[in-house]
Amino acid sequence: QTASTENNLTDAPHYLAEALIKNGVKHMYGVVGIPVTDFARIAQGMGIRFIAMRHEADAVNAAAAEGFLTGRPAVALTVSAPGFLNGLAPLKEATVNGFPVIMIGGSSTRNVVDLHEGEYEGLDQMSYAVPFSKESMRLDRIEDIPLAVARAMHIASSGRPGGVYIDFPDDTVAQTMTVEDAEANMWTATDPAPSVRPTDESIDKALEMLAAAKNPLVVIGKGAAIAQAENEVQEFINKTDIPYQPMSMAKGLIPDTDPHSTASARGMALKNADVVLLIGARLNWMLGFGRGKSWNPDAKFIQIDIDPSEMENARQIACPLVGDIKSTMKALNEGLEKTPVKAPEAWRQMLQTKIDENNAKFAARTSADTVPMGHFNALGAIKKVTDRHHDIYIANEGANSLDICRNVIDMYMPRHRLDCGTWGVMGCGTGYAIGAAVTTGKPVLYIGGDSAFGFDGMEVETACRFHLPITFVVLNNGGIYRGDFENLGNDGDPSPLTLSYDVHYEKMIEAFGGKSYYATTPEEVEQMVEEAVTSGKTCFVHVQLAIYAGSESGHIGNLNPKPVVGPL
Ligand code: ADP
Ligand code: MG
Repeated sequence: QTASTENNLTDAPHYLAEALIKNGVKHMYGVVGIPVTDFARIAQGMGIRFIAMRHEADAVNAAAAEGFLTGRPAVALTVSAPGFLNGLAPLKEATVNGFPVIMIGGSSTRNVVDLHEGEYEGLDQMSYAVPFSKESMRLDRIEDIPLAVARAMHIASSGRPGGVYIDFPDDTVAQTMTVEDAEANMWTATDPAPSVRPTDESIDKALEMLAAAKNPLVVIGKGAAIAQAENEVQEFINKTDIPYQPMSMAKGLIPDTDPHSTASARGMALKNADVVLLIGARLNWMLGFGRGKSWNPDAKFIQIDIDPSEMENARQIACPLVGDIKSTMKALNEGLEKTPVKAPEAWRQMLQTKIDENNAKFAARTSADTVPMGHFNALGAIKKVTDRHHDIYIANEGANSLDICRNVIDMYMPRHRLDCGTWGVMGCGTGYAIGAAVTTGKPVLYIGGDSAFGFDGMEVETACRFHLPITFVVLNNGGIYRGDFENLGNDGDPSPLTLSYDVHYEKMIEAFGGKSYYATTPEEVEQMVEEAVTSGKTCFVHVQLAIYAGSESGHIGNLNPKPVVGPL
């Protein structure tokens, strides 16, 4: 049954659910309430899997994770005003990350809201969503539902993908239409993410620059993962032997164990590269804006991006390649016949020596049997598990827990790592884990710091309720960053960074019927995480680190301005 046919009428909730289904939406993540409770029930009844979550921010993150994994937007649903506002921050984060997602917000009676009469949860939501999304629209008429959904599909998926908001006011929720009119009016989005090919001239120029380079380098960003361009990127690297740097969420696009990876010689690779090909990686703060002391001042850049306005955002780009990454990489691969490119052996050798040296140092840290543990040996123990199960998805948040996990845990498959992303935001991890588990049905390993987990930890209950194969690992060092030693005042309170250390986060999952573990040694971590991820059940492993393990701000302490006056 696709619509209620009582009196030969359909209504807006049925019609909207039908339009979403016809456009390929399979899952909706949300928190229900006035005026969208029935919409969620109806959508579920019509075959959309509805994941009822505990907080709207987590619901939008879960839907965004699905967008990252599939390239197609999933839907998040919120109630009016406060629920809607909770969803806005992750809607913006998805837009900044380039993840396609559609957020639908129920809202209150328009004429009352617009005259500021004091409506129940009255807020002009469409306007509030404008700066937080790629596009914000309002459904005023039931007959516009197919149009609104098709537009949302196009805008969320095409160009740089991002978040679209659809406002669904209660007056519209109550509208009806005859079934015949509704059927005649239904349509779906055609090719919502069309290919965009760069010009032949720009392809020729890029290959000539790379052919002439002494120290060419490829930087693979999450844009290449979103574009699902792993085959094309792999072919290019294999044919040219150019060393590459994987950005965090591009890890696994090519297995991290590939000999062309310079992940462990990042400093040397950036500092010495003379021609750099950026594949879906922005020259933002994560790459030091492509200038300054991390880079060779004479390096020339080739940048592939679907968004032309990204070009020269921070420095000169000698060769912009505007197009989708799949088509562009295909054109580059084809162009290699005419303009062969081979990375000089001396450059590869120079990097390899550094890689071997750094890998040896790293191995010593990750395999240490020191107890209480630090991040390195705890994550080294988890790596032993993930090295045996390449299809595990990782959702990772925290500071040290993020930076060290990214460096320690090798990824073998594309789009298997979801993390704090472009903004380095906390509170995304459990939502991402749920989105990944729902979308793929595969085991998911959440790895978070004790502070990061606190933002979104209640979703452990959701994971248990839906029997999702997620293992939550919390690395507890007693606080934000590394906790803190002292309170600069003398009121006896904990410092602003201090969270509980002698606690048992794993007990949470016992309340919800999941399986709990408490690990204090690397052997326990390995054995417990292995048992948990292979059980297919919802599990929780509390990993007790040394108190104060790690460093303040993780690897980005340089972004933290230091006071020049005062006791610090
Ligand atoms: P990272 O943080 O991994 O370096 P960024 O998020 O900075 O990656 O950059 C990703 C870039 O990829 C964005 O500028 C985005 O516009 C671009 N992008 C996303 N999808 C595609 C696609 N299908 N084709 C081309 N570029 C894309
Ligand atoms: Mg901590």
